[in-house]
Amino acid sequence: MIRVAINGYGNLGRGVEQAITKNDDMELVVVFTRRDPGSITTQGAPVAHIDDMPAWAEKVDVCLNCGGSATDLAEQGPAAAAHFTTVDSYDTHAEIPAYYASVDAAAKAAGHLAVISTGWDPGLFSMLRVLGEAVLPEGTTTTFWGPGVSQGHSDALRRIDGVLDARQYTLPIQETVDAVKAGDDVELTTRSMHRRDCYVVAADGADLARIEKEIVEMPNYFSDYDTSVTFITAEELAAKHSGIPHGGTVIRRGETSPGVAERIGFELELGSNPEFTGSVLVAMGRAAVRMAARGQTGARTVFDVTLADLSAISPEELRASYL
Ligand code: NAP
Repeated sequence: MIRVAINGYGNLGRGVEQAITKNDDMELVVVFTRRDPGSITTQGAPVAHIDDMPAWAEKVDVCLNCGGSATDLAEQGPAAAAHFTTVDSYDTHAEIPAYYASVDAAAKAAGHLAVISTGWDPGLFSMLRVLGEAVLPEGTTTTFWGPGVSQGHSDALRRIDGVLDARQYTLPIQETVDAVKAGDDVELTTRSMHRRDCYVVAADGADLARIEKEIVEMPNYFSDYDTSVTFITAEELAAKHSGIPHGGTVIRRGETSPGVAERIGFELELGSNPEFTGSVLVAMGRAAVRMAARGQTGARTVFDVTLADLSAISPEELRASYL
């Protein structure tokens, strides 16, 4: 049995907890939180304060970090790697190289392995982008996200002063999707491919104009998109925006000889973004434990993980039935 810890019990933490129940070789042994452990009810696993991590070092094979990318993981990624083999879903794409360096230093110093930025994007989509380009070196890769709720962006909204709760929908711009699928020559810019719709519950008396300005001007998250901000009540948010669906498509188009077109498509339709992302983290956790057992230390990404390490099925069975 692989003994798993969850670090941070939000949407993703609960998604990981659910995903572990679908994997017979994994068991959840502890949930870490920054909050009062007594205030949290899990499906059954004990809850410990994040400060008590060192006491669990020998009782945990892999710690799945489920904190938010906006502010939590920059601190929690390196901190957890000091005690455990770790996996996370850090998704601030522009900051990944710096995050990799800081986790790599902490993991190497402690002799641990840390697989960063897993999930579906970054994560499975990243793998398909690399695979598509490796197979079709001459061509273009296009990624569309949504329609769906982006947890990372919703998380960033909730960190703004005066915001009580929020949902952010990422919406692909349909005319652009259709043009790419048809192989038409279309200008692909951040703004021409997606827009972002924000539904925000503000605190009583909060400065709505200031909140809206902070949102639309937020670098990396919103400033490069057409972003709409709608202020709604907590009741309306609960009634109309409680689900967390998502999805998207990676398309690689290329030519193998003049006039001979090839297309690779990889599509996700997710009923629950956190439950699906949690499922990816769990599989990555299995791989991380196996890689660590072979003596690997430092940071890794999904590009370093093999399908054989991700799978619960034996290499013999994979060769016999899946090739
Ligand atoms: P979230 O629900 O806001 O949780 C983030 C952290 O906030 C939790 O770890 C938890 O830490 C704390 N928290 C949660 N609920 C709380 C509450 N009621 N009161 C106080 N604190 C609370 O965020 P999330 O939806 O789980 O998303 C986490 C991250 O996953 C996102 O930021 C995103 O980067 C990442 N993600 C990545 C992908 C991908 O494909 N790579 C996909 C989806 C999400 P404590 O328990 O320590 O308090």
